[in-house]
Amino acid sequence: MVTNGANGASKDERPVKIIIVGAGFAGLACAIESRLKGHDVILLEKFPALKVLGDIISFGPNAGRIFERWGLHDKIWPLCTHLKTFHLHTWKGELITAQPLNAKEFGSYSYNGHRGELHKVLFDHAIELGTDMRLGSDVTEYWEDEHAAGVVCNGERLTADVVIGADGVRSKAREMVLGYFDKPKPSGYAIYRAWFNAKESGIGEDPLSDYLVKDGDAFYGWIGKDVHMLTSSSKGGKDVSWVITHKDTADIEESWSFPGKMEDVLKIVEDWDPRCAAILSKAPSCVDWKLVYRDPLPTWISKKARIAVIGDAAHPFLPTSIQGASQALEDGVTVAVNLKISGPDQAPLAIQAFEYIRYQRVRQAQRTGETNRDKWHQADDKKAVEDPDSVALNREEWLLGHDAEKHAWEAYPEAVKEIKEHGYHLPALPEGDVAAERVAKAREEYLARAI
Ligand SMILES: Cc1cc2nc3c(=O)[nH]c(=O)nc-3n(C[C@H](O)[C@H](O)[C@H](O)COP(=O)(O)OP(=O)(O)OC[C@H]3O[C@@H](n4cnc5c(N)ncnc54)[C@H](O)[C@@H]3O)c2cc1C
Repeated sequence: MVTNGANGASKDERPVKIIIVGAGFAGLACAIESRLKGHDVILLEKFPALKVLGDIISFGPNAGRIFERWGLHDKIWPLCTHLKTFHLHTWKGELITAQPLNAKEFGSYSYNGHRGELHKVLFDHAIELGTDMRLGSDVTEYWEDEHAAGVVCNGERLTADVVIGADGVRSKAREMVLGYFDKPKPSGYAIYRAWFNAKESGIGEDPLSDYLVKDGDAFYGWIGKDVHMLTSSSKGGKDVSWVITHKDTADIEESWSFPGKMEDVLKIVEDWDPRCAAILSKAPSCVDWKLVYRDPLPTWISKKARIAVIGDAAHPFLPTSIQGASQALEDGVTVAVNLKISGPDQAPLAIQAFEYIRYQRVRQAQRTGETNRDKWHQADDKKAVEDPDSVALNREEWLLGHDAEKHAWEAYPEAVKEIKEHGYHLPALPEGDVAAERVAKAREEYLARAI
């Protein structure tokens, strides 16, 4: 029989066998933390080879704390954009605020850089730590019974103690967990986005855009009705990226990489501050990223609690939360800590505790994306200039000062006590949540199907 030691860690010496599906940030975080906790990890990724894909991605100090604990600061920091001030303007070009940005907040750094470059650092680290990384592995089926869980991948049946579906917004694991296809909703918005080389683009030679690259890295934003535009340079002004939202009612496909048309992009800022068109037009190309959204899922875990979805598979974020990737990291770390405490024999308890510990926090973080967007898109120009705090970036301690690893160690015993005393049940949504009724209904339907 397995007993738990004084620190709560399992005394069962057998490592937990974990299959992780998807080598995005959620899957890699889970793999790295799991290897550090001594688990056996197979990571299945359908991409046949690692490619430097994407553009700007942001990690808050809550994720920075994780990178730093993993010893990756020196590798990631030189790849990042080093911002000192956020200059935010009305769409007409009036300065609302020059908000100073601290490199370190709540004891840790924020890391903003090219998604593909940062991703490669984690990918390499996961392999260095002994992850059995299998590229070109497309998972087509999931299964579980009382004793194990597994997948079918490239026709092969693989078995483990638990399976973690970190397979992104188009998750198959989510279908298995829910027992039905959960169709995402259009958010009503899409984002045009670009990343390009500053020198080749001529951005430094145009007085309407040269301030972005003249003196190290810079960060500028403009807000208007239903639209915001953000742009920054990185690596000391070597690269530039921008994003601009636009209203979008087209039917949705969950992909981040549709090609965008530059004439459509420029149309959005036709009567805006001319600096906007000057910056946008320097990009050689851009992508049109449809923003999909979904209410909180009825659950993130399978019936026998041997399969869980994490990261975007469980909870897509609006970019205005600036937390999607950070929360994916927190998920991965929490799963690994819980499994360390539970050991293999009680792995389903660890999976239940994962959902219990994470569900409310993730929802609160997700909501910041909606409130930030509304704050910017509905701002009154005059009021924003008079009261810059009303549109400043939120930097709150509950979100950014969080230590996911420490929290998991501390919260696990209470989660398990609650589960054992009252049976497994999901925590309620935060009080007054706009989705509370819809989620309650979805849970009822989910439970009715399960019977
Ligand atoms: C190619 C790519 C580029 C992106 N670029 C940006 C960006 O520039 N900026 C930004 O903010 N966000 C970007 N994102 C999204 C961002 O990475 C995520 O929102 C966030 O980091 C959460 O990550 P995740 O690991 O949950 O999901 P993802 O990053 O989407 O990773 C999911 C992984 O699962 C794999 N996968 C899916 N199905 C299967 C299957 N059946 N079998 C095996 N593997 C499977 C996918 O190939 C993918 O690698 C990008 C995502 C991808 C996949």
